Amino acid sequence: MENGSTKTGSAAWVEKLIHEFWATSPQNTLNNGTGEKAWGQPLVGFARATHPLFKKYCEDLSPFYWSPEQAFQLAFPAEPVPAAELSVICWVLPQTAETCADQSRETNMPAERWARSRDFGEKFNCALRLQLAASLTAAGYPAVAPERLPAFAYQHSGQFGIASNWSERHTAHIAGLGTFGLSDGLITVRGKAVRIGSVVARIDLPATAAAYSGYQDWCLWFAKGTCGMCIKRCPAEAINEAGHDKDKCLAYIREVSAPYAQRTYGTEATPCGLCQVKIPCEKSCPL
Ligand code: SF4
Ligand code: SF4
Repeated sequence: MENGSTKTGSAAWVEKLIHEFWATSPQNTLNNGTGEKAWGQPLVGFARATHPLFKKYCEDLSPFYWSPEQAFQLAFPAEPVPAAELSVICWVLPQTAETCADQSRETNMPAERWARSRDFGEKFNCALRLQLAASLTAAGYPAVAPERLPAFAYQHSGQFGIASNWSERHTAHIAGLGTFGLSDGLITVRGKAVRIGSVVARIDLPATAAAYSGYQDWCLWFAKGTCGMCIKRCPAEAINEAGHDKDKCLAYIREVSAPYAQRTYGTEATPCGLCQVKIPCEKSCPL
């Protein structure tokens, strides 16, 4: 079936579903009375569920990490489907120029726009996950957003500290959208000041070609031995030459920045993200 100029089930059709929801959903808002959208234009990538990194992450990231087919089966238990029949759709939602500018002026606490994007913007991201999965399923391509499954949870995984069943950043890396930085954030084609989402679907989509081969190729620290700007941006000293201390970061967010945002802006969620702006990888790959 044709939908405008795009064929139902094609990569262009899936991208259009994401872009239309971004453009038209009233949930894409900072909810600050100005009508501003929470996010800039999304960037979309695709991975095949057979990509070997999915299996590697199941082995390396945590004993409870899901493969795409495991996540799919949780949603469709009567319909076991091999990885070869599944694609993973991934998107990056970039912070707006206004949000990045405000956040760049801050040194200890998140700016109001940033706190609002972490709260209302992530609610939009959750709605996009569910809406895309529902649209695909209704069109005959059963789909699930792993992060929205009732079983999705964070747990302690020993070697890697706190970890979840599904990582949007790792999924985006497989889908050709970026590589990891010293601070553990994903440096995407649209930079590191982003939020990410994904859906697993029984659909045949072409894998996005990655312009990198390594896990940390786009970080100046690993590529050239320079930069380290994210170390200086972190008020909690949670980033150093050895990488990102998840426990220190989490403690700062839970005990300091999230209570501040709730008190000051009336927002929920867990904002900080000072390490995602005023750095060379804020808006794009810095190489
Ligand atoms: S700020 Fe510099 S060191 Fe930190 S992630 Fe970005 S490129 Fe790497
Ligand atoms: S989110 Fe905040 S506390 Fe965590 S590493 Fe970044 S700047 Fe530091």
